[in-house]
Amino acid sequence: MAHRVFISHKREDKSYKNYIQNNLGVDMIDKSLNEAIDSDDEDYIMRKIREDYLSDSTVTIFLIGTHSSENEGEEEQVYIKRELQASLFDGKANSRNGILGIVLPDMYDKIYRGSYACSKCGGNHNYVDIGDETVIKEFSCNYYIKPLADGKCAWSDDDRYCVLVKWDDFKKDAESAEKYIDQTFDKRQHHISKKVTVRPK
Ligand SMILES: [Zn+2]
Repeated sequence: MAHRVFISHKREDKSYKNYIQNNLGVDMIDKSLNEAIDSDDEDYIMRKIREDYLSDSTVTIFLIGTHSSENEGEEEQVYIKRELQASLFDGKANSRNGILGIVLPDMYDKIYRGSYACSKCGGNHNYVDIGDETVIKEFSCNYYIKPLADGKCAWSDDDRYCVLVKWDDFKKDAESAEKYIDQTFDKRQHHISKKVTVRPK
């Protein structure tokens, strides 16, 4: 069964969203948050975004481009932050979405930075730079969920709620896109989902 997808992105990356919609057969909701919801009640804001924007989606795709980082400033990122928070919010009527981060080509070199020799286990680990310089905290803190279990020196897939993929791997064909969306959907029932942070500081 195809899972319904919501896409969170910066204006500059809209063409990627269009590509996903037109070429990969993804069942998606074509909406973006573009106005502030006026309330002091955080739970109300989350519910309202879920109802009016995310509706019955179960997976949120976060397009990681050159303007999606925490360091661009909170004001600049208010909509994508709200979209991810509402996606992560586990409400009574609407359970949380899985989060799939797609690294856009301009960000490959900034995020995939080779590997390093680990002093703890003696092995090699990939250096994947997911932090304030590359993404908003709503993504990074649910990708590198802290603290790591005792004795572990690196994050494995099971230690992450967010799923990460390169644009070229995702958009290969409709089958690849579906594979990554399915993998992300399954995280909702995974035990790591209990460690999700909705509004990181
Ligand atoms: Zn290690």
